Amino acid sequence: MDDKENFARPLLETRGLSRAFGAGNRVVRAVQDVDLAVYPGEVLGLVGESGSGKSTIGRLVLRLIEPSAGDIVFEGESIAGISERKLKPFRRKAQMVFQDPFASLNPRLDVEAIIGEALDAHGLYRGARRRARIGDLLEMVGLPASAMGRYPHEFSGGQRQRIGIARALAVEPKLIVADEPVSALDVSVQAQVLNLMQELRHRLGLAMILISHDLDVVELMSDRIAVLYLGRIMEQGPAADIVAAPRHPYTRALIAASPKADPDATRVPVALTGELPSPLSPPSGCVFRTRCPHAQAVCADQVPVLRGEGAHRFACHFDLAPQSLG
Ligand code: ADP
Ligand code: MG
Repeated sequence: MDDKENFARPLLETRGLSRAFGAGNRVVRAVQDVDLAVYPGEVLGLVGESGSGKSTIGRLVLRLIEPSAGDIVFEGESIAGISERKLKPFRRKAQMVFQDPFASLNPRLDVEAIIGEALDAHGLYRGARRRARIGDLLEMVGLPASAMGRYPHEFSGGQRQRIGIARALAVEPKLIVADEPVSALDVSVQAQVLNLMQELRHRLGLAMILISHDLDVVELMSDRIAVLYLGRIMEQGPAADIVAAPRHPYTRALIAASPKADPDATRVPVALTGELPSPLSPPSGCVFRTRCPHAQAVCADQVPVLRGEGAHRFACHFDLAPQSLG
């Protein structure tokens, strides 16, 4: 077993986490039966195509929306059914960094007020210490303390995302959920913001759920990776194992599709055939089977359970030959 599983309690755990939207014959099962754990100080990457349920998981674990079934456990306590009043301490410990740094900052407030709101929500740093605290937070994210008196429109996208990160860090969280934190930014700025997040998480001992459709971003940032498809986990494990020795056909296809995949390498490209099925009527059995080059009759009949050695687990009925990944 993974050492972490022996010695540390997960900071956050989901058990059988599910969420459906809609009613009648228009039900979307956005997240189905998801078991995840995030250990203190680690980055868990969630990767998958658009519509695979990543954002829904992010919103569920922050209790911004309620699960349809399953449990969410933070520091050993269930937060799935509890009242907003009882959630207050949790709200401080788990914070969100949003995708869109343009939409997520109130244009009418200056930076001091934007970060101040987060402090006020938890009664932190009142009075004379407040400005110093906000200045420290800005410097922590690479902005001058003088940025305090300016408004969101005066900053670039990357700078606004830094402000969003400062706001999230203001209340000293243990967990950050970052949902596509760089996908709205210019490519040239993405690496700078990712580097900042990486530096801060080491410095502050933060745990993070990093959500991205981009496997390269997730690989760069994560200790462990969970691969999602149509609301279910296809494969999860240590980031290096997932990328170097993927066991699930979907993970292999994602890696082959990554711009980093080198056509001259011995990596075997696996084309993703067909369209992503409608989430209103997902395939029976294995949800990936309609696009899987290895699908057999059993795949339509039985939902594959996550299996494998130790921390590396995959949900496929077959043991495919290891791939040479150059
Ligand atoms: P991702 O972040 O991976 O792109 P989402 O979690 O946003 O995926 O969405 C998963 C599925 O749930 C999609 O089919 C999406 O249309 C659906 N969905 C998400 N939120 C809602 C909602 N509030 N109402 C109805 N359907 C939703
Ligand atoms: Mg999303």
